[in-house]
Amino acid sequence: MTPSEGWTPDQPIVAIRDLHKSFGHVEVLKGIDIEVMKGEVICIIGPSGSGKSTLIRTINGLTPATTGSVTVEGQEVHDDNLDKLALRRKVGIVFQQYNLFPHRTVLQNVMMAPLLVLKENKREVEERARSLLAKVQLHDKEDAYPAELSGGQQQRVAIARSLCMRPDVMLFDEVTAALDPETVKEVLVTIKQLAADGMTCVLVTHEMGFAREVSDRVYFTDAGRIVESGPPAQLFEQPQDPRTREFLSKVL
Ligand code: ADP
Ligand code: MG
Repeated sequence: MTPSEGWTPDQPIVAIRDLHKSFGHVEVLKGIDIEVMKGEVICIIGPSGSGKSTLIRTINGLTPATTGSVTVEGQEVHDDNLDKLALRRKVGIVFQQYNLFPHRTVLQNVMMAPLLVLKENKREVEERARSLLAKVQLHDKEDAYPAELSGGQQQRVAIARSLCMRPDVMLFDEVTAALDPETVKEVLVTIKQLAADGMTCVLVTHEMGFAREVSDRVYFTDAGRIVESGPPAQLFEQPQDPRTREFLSKVL
């Protein structure tokens, strides 16, 4: 997927405009507007069922929009003519469930998509996979099988696997929610490192301390709408809306 004609890097890399999404008669996104610039890290927080997963999945086209627009580098994601494979390469996503292939080694898991989907050169992919595993501190686990790793280690493999497609934007949907508390931190450190390296990141997270530390902007969603957004210091310390205050009083 090449950027649309007319898109320049000083324009938002991700732009969501008046996005609505219904499942049957139930409208779960009721007009969402978000812009993300290249290199920015934004966090989406909010109660369970407020539409956070639905929202993040519209960004790489996993969930189709009902109305409104989502563009990545100026390209409309929900255009039927868009090359979906190219979009998935450009926008990586990591979920709570890491879904590694159990009968493949760590290295094979990381190499699989570029090899099989993009048909890239094996030597190049292997070199890249090794350097990504080093980056997520798993260089000594290349030949291990997923079941031999902790949850946090498996999640870091999942992140390396996504990065091996060389995305321009990374989406993270509650990637630490299923992990043992002692392995949460190592995954957050990995994401923080990625953010510091300049990767554009959109995160849904329940880790408020992390959101506060890593994000350029935080969006609080409730019942399918963005109730409030702002720099983390402002949103966490001086929330304006009573719903934001109530939510934060429960989770902080
Ligand atoms: P969150 O991630 O904030 O917990 P979700 O985006 O998962 O919220 O869900 C928002 C609402 O949309 C929920 O009421 C959920 O039941 C509903 N929903 C999500 N996915 C589907 C689907 N595929 N079909 C029907 N309803 C769905
Ligand atoms: Mg969710």
